[in-house]
Amino acid sequence: MGSAAGGGFPQWNCNCRNCHSLRAGTFRGKARTQTQVAITHDQRSWFLLNASPDLRLQIEATLSLHPRNGRRDSPIRGVLLTSADIDQIAGLLSLRELQPFQVFCTASIRRILREDNSVFGMLNRVPEQVSWVEIKPSGTFPLFPEPGLRCTVFSLGNRYPAYVTKPGLRNEEALLGATIESPSGKRVAYMPAVPAITDSLLQRLETVDLLLFDGTFWSDDELIQVQGSGATAREMGHVPVSGTDGILRKLAPLRRPRKVFLHVNNTNPMLDESSPEYAEVRAAGWEIAEDGTSFNL
Ligand SMILES: [Zn+2]
Repeated sequence: MGSAAGGGFPQWNCNCRNCHSLRAGTFRGKARTQTQVAITHDQRSWFLLNASPDLRLQIEATLSLHPRNGRRDSPIRGVLLTSADIDQIAGLLSLRELQPFQVFCTASIRRILREDNSVFGMLNRVPEQVSWVEIKPSGTFPLFPEPGLRCTVFSLGNRYPAYVTKPGLRNEEALLGATIESPSGKRVAYMPAVPAITDSLLQRLETVDLLLFDGTFWSDDELIQVQGSGATAREMGHVPVSGTDGILRKLAPLRRPRKVFLHVNNTNPMLDESSPEYAEVRAAGWEIAEDGTSFNL
């Protein structure tokens, strides 16, 4: 439903080469809303993977997610949260209209939302509203009653967003990766933020059929080149796409999965379909997600 990193493409205050030429109508490539994925096993009940700030418009753009029966209805049964990043949780505030659904997240992320930020209290104004399901930072659990989708999560990092200040949160609960398995045994991996690529992660990725992977930055110093200062991609928790230790090289040995980048930042040159970076990504066998892309496993 959405494929850009936080800020979207174009970003409201950005005049980088990509954003400028998109607005000028000379860009060869597409605008994108912030990353949002929805999954289903039966086309009737859907689960959201995180909740983007663009969620309301993304739901309206997706026929399968519209209400069907009665005055109040939604096929959205729940939301899986893999981090407390603003671009992964802000959409929850667009789901505050007294609709019952589940939110699956770690105890630390639940604490950030339910105890440390009172605005999310709007999700629990009445008893029949949001139910919170605590998940461990590693393990497998059903998203729907069997034989529905089964989700396996694993810890990917220990950094909380800058707005989180309170001590006592568990490091391993900060950032999760997820694989979701269908009743037929097909698997999708969902990882919009990957701070490091380990051997154990590579082994896990070789067991999936579809990989939705962090495509935030092309190079480690991308934002510094655009802004003149700031943090590197790795300091922000994203392995860059290019470079000797980048994603293209590190994931090149994977044979099984179809490989798709999502969570692409507006500054990333691979968004430009006339660029050598785009050609390099496609030649390496990767795709770049667009808003509205769907996959059938
Ligand atoms: Zn930009």
